[in-house]
Amino acid sequence: MKIEHMVLGAVATNCYLVINEKTKEAIVVDPADRADVILRKAAEKDVTLRAIFLTHGHGDHILAVPELREKAGIPVYACRAEEALLQDPKQNLTSMLFGKPLSLKADILADDGEELNVGGMRFRLLFTPGHTPGGCCYYNEEDGVLFSGDTLFAGSVGRTDFPGGSMKTLMRSLAEKILCLPDSVRVYPGHQEDTTIGEERLCNPYFREY
Ligand SMILES: [Zn+2]
Repeated sequence: MKIEHMVLGAVATNCYLVINEKTKEAIVVDPADRADVILRKAAEKDVTLRAIFLTHGHGDHILAVPELREKAGIPVYACRAEEALLQDPKQNLTSMLFGKPLSLKADILADDGEELNVGGMRFRLLFTPGHTPGGCCYYNEEDGVLFSGDTLFAGSVGRTDFPGGSMKTLMRSLAEKILCLPDSVRVYPGHQEDTTIGEERLCNPYFREY
């Protein structure tokens, strides 16, 4: 698995192109903005796009979804618990913060622990509410890779002051679903640089009590 990183949109969101190097298939994680840039990157890497994975429904992670879904003809995956937020421009902040009201319907709504086999790559959806009611992470065990969205950052965690957010719920998600992963797992968050589970377990100030 090879991961190409793009920083897109008004608040510098990480969008990842996750490539199966054997089959030249790829998944886009959080198409934040600029479908043209994402499509150009896919063409440059000579890969066929198979799916869009959303870690959550906030506007800064989804603005390129409609155009990318249509042009590439690929399905959108999200956590079932995020369905309402995706459809509501108020809750997903697209009307308030981004001035582009967007109501999205995912093609595939997955549940906690569900295995997703896409483009010859296997991911487990980890339901990690707290930043949003239906936020999730995508975990690939073979390569030890986690896409953590705005649940976990290098040295921090997601904010919980948006509609449906809860710090208590977020900390429970992190304790039960994320901190139990192996130290070596590389974490690719929704903003800023990547990290590892081990590094965060040791250094992240939010995990002192764990
Ligand atoms: Zn967010």
